[in-house]
Amino acid sequence: MPILVPEPHDEICFREDGKRLDGRAVDELRPFSCEVGVIKNAQGSALVRHGGNLIYAAIYGPREVHPRHLARPDKGILRVYYRMATFSVHERKSPAPNRRENEISKVIREALEPVLFLEAYPDSQIEIYIEVIAADGGTRCASTTAASLALADAGIPMKSMVVGVAAGKAQGRVLLDLGDKEDKVGQADIPCVVVMKDKSISLLQFDGEMSLEEMKTGFEYVLKGAEIIYQKQLEALREKYNKITREAEIEDSAVGNLPQNEQKSINESQNAQDSLQNTSQIDEQMKVQNEKQEINNDHKAEPSPLMENSSAINESQKEVEKGEVEEKSKDEKSSEENIIKSSEQSANSTDDSPKQGENQSSQEEQQLNTENDSPSGDDQE
Ligand code: UDP
Repeated sequence: MPILVPEPHDEICFREDGKRLDGRAVDELRPFSCEVGVIKNAQGSALVRHGGNLIYAAIYGPREVHPRHLARPDKGILRVYYRMATFSVHERKSPAPNRRENEISKVIREALEPVLFLEAYPDSQIEIYIEVIAADGGTRCASTTAASLALADAGIPMKSMVVGVAAGKAQGRVLLDLGDKEDKVGQADIPCVVVMKDKSISLLQFDGEMSLEEMKTGFEYVLKGAEIIYQKQLEALREKYNKITREAEIEDSAVGNLPQNEQKSINESQNAQDSLQNTSQIDEQMKVQNEKQEINNDHKAEPSPLMENSSAINESQKEVEKGEVEEKSKDEKSSEENIIKSSEQSANSTDDSPKQGENQSSQEEQQLNTENDSPSGDDQE
């Protein structure tokens, strides 16, 4: 099982070849990348990777101030919450906000206020939440860079983008963008926030000892590094709008990839077909309605022949059924008599067999009628 041991803080910050321990030149930035729109619920957001730092910034507002008594009638207020995750450093950091976090929140707010038009948002607040997921030295600078980018992503008007980057000194040499170890063992650290429009400085902190010449060199490095980061910020914003444009184009192409005039003619013919279909549907509906109307009128004026027929059929059906039942009961009783009569007839006439059949059937009918008229078969007998 690996044991996490913090790196020893020896004084050495350079390799034998004169480069820094991570291979950088003295005026070289750590690897930097950023993107925007990473938190869907926020109005604007940014993710910054600067060296080993991994930092999210999210913007909410302008919106109502809570608690209300903090609201100002003459301008909006900016509130910044810088927090380090418990797991962002080697030794577990307490989840409770500490003095250092409150101080860093304050300096980031002061670095951003000069570029915002807060007077445009009276009685409102803009909130910036910054979460350091991994810390590797220079988190306040990287956090300011992320906050500026997130503000731009949120569409909040700014006089300029700002970039945070630090200069410092270690082993007697001036350095740009100190890493965690250089920050800890170095002789000086100057975190700066540069307003990119006029290259003015909106935040400058100084911790350590440096000569004036060294400080000038440090500021030169800072401006050079800030310009590189600024270009990356612009690239991230451009990338977002390019993505939106691409998505819009894909949606358009879903409608049709054809040239404009061809698409137009297809649309026109489609419209014509639709209108034709609608017209024929309306015609059909009107036809059905007219037919219904006619049937109703006929029905009111005189009973429909169909109905008459059907009632007549029902009546005759009933009669037939009644007759069948009665006939069935009589048949059994008169079967003997019929047999005798038919045998007599067949004996009388041998040649005219068709007539015989007719006579037989007519005699049977007569017999049936007689039986039907009589109240019972017994009386007839
Ligand atoms: N640090 C830490 N634990 C803490 C605070 C800071 O390990 O509770 C580390 C972290 O890597 C940070 C570095 O110390 O980046 C320097 O912190 P500093 O206060 O100088 O702020 P920063 O240089 O990050 O702006």
